[in-house]
Amino acid sequence: MMNWRDVGNVPYDRWQRAIAAVNGPAGLQSPAAYDAALPHTALCLAMLRVESQYGTAFFRNRPQNRNPLNLRPPDGDGYLAFASWVAGVHAWRNRLTSATYKGGIYARTVTLDDLVAVYAPKSDDNDPVAYADMIRDLWRSWGVLERSAEMIDAPLLVSLIPGFNRNRPGAKLNTNDARWTIVQHTTGNTNPNAGALMHRDFVHAGGGPDRVSFHFVVDDRWIVQLLPVDEIGWHAGDGCNDRGGDVGCFDSVGIELCVNAGADWARAKDHLARLYAMLAVGDMRIVGMRPGWFSLDRVTTHRAVSDDNKYCPTQLLNEGSLPIIIAQARQYAGLVPEATYAKPIVYPWLDTDAASEGKNRVIGRTPVFYLPQTYVAIRETPRRQATGANQKVIGPPIEEGERFAADYVYRSGGRTFVLTRWGTRVEAAALLPKVQIGRTGTISVRRTKDGDPEIARRGAA
Ligand SMILES: [Zn+2]
Repeated sequence: MMNWRDVGNVPYDRWQRAIAAVNGPAGLQSPAAYDAALPHTALCLAMLRVESQYGTAFFRNRPQNRNPLNLRPPDGDGYLAFASWVAGVHAWRNRLTSATYKGGIYARTVTLDDLVAVYAPKSDDNDPVAYADMIRDLWRSWGVLERSAEMIDAPLLVSLIPGFNRNRPGAKLNTNDARWTIVQHTTGNTNPNAGALMHRDFVHAGGGPDRVSFHFVVDDRWIVQLLPVDEIGWHAGDGCNDRGGDVGCFDSVGIELCVNAGADWARAKDHLARLYAMLAVGDMRIVGMRPGWFSLDRVTTHRAVSDDNKYCPTQLLNEGSLPIIIAQARQYAGLVPEATYAKPIVYPWLDTDAASEGKNRVIGRTPVFYLPQTYVAIRETPRRQATGANQKVIGPPIEEGERFAADYVYRSGGRTFVLTRWGTRVEAAALLPKVQIGRTGTISVRRTKDGDPEIARRGAA
């Protein structure tokens, strides 16, 4: 989370030109006024714009007070009056940086939103959310990001749906809650041309008969932003008519991950992790960004929010890879120490197309049997690297009830393991159906915990 104290400064030239452009007071344009706002000139200049159009427009406060930031007395009504515009700016800085003013009311703030909630409270007829947005918009237009360190290396392409399109309703997401949710989809279109740019063209052209729209579409080349992240999109299939209940529509941004044949699937998922990280850190290159309103704890699936339990994002649900992508995003976002997890070991034959050949494989001298199934974890169990004695953990544990598909099973050290498409080994005893491989290679499958075993493969005698 960015701290407003880290935002820093605009160049003096920017300060002077902004105030001069509206014929603002000469004293406010002066280097002395700029110096009085250091080291928070970017914040001060933006607040000057919001509070008084750079000292040129006052509502209840009066120009004669030379109080361009509308400071009120600590315990009273009305506005302070200053001997000069510089003194007015100076008083603003002293107040915001004081450890003791009103019991540390500013000292306790961390984010811009915290600060604005104190400076321009709702109780004083302000709209703190809109106020903070105006400041961020100004910062963006001045090239001041909230903190340059909070930019993620990612191929972002902003290409917003035209405002007059019927699939861009323009309504805002709810802002009465503290956070928004990320709803993940896959496109379901395996046509080789069905990449991010094709989907961009599709929604720019109206989004088809259902007028669908979503905030981002991601493939192995691009992360394309299509809607500001503070606007609603039509992607969740939850009706979009109940502001209180339709979380997918009114509290979420929708992300489509492309599944076009021939694309680099691992790279596409890496781009998705980078996008999650951008949202989590509040990367200001994303249009409509409100830092702190996204959390990697609030990534969900289309399936979880839709009215009809739609099985989406299909490929990610089948692989069980969404938690791994989120874990990767945490690393990109700097939210966990580097290399907490080892990298999965992936074999070419794990790939769905290769697996569909139906062949048994080997890892070293261990036979790996083709047995495609969908599993449910009956207890929490770790994700580990695929092979041999190397059992490093490669992601957060699989949670009880989590469902995933895998094409292979093998036996090692007297125990049976399931091998996922992602290169994860999972102990078969933690899963249903329960697979057991005997010493001779006979494979039995129990559909329920105490069910009778079915023989899936008979081993050598
Ligand atoms: Zn979907």
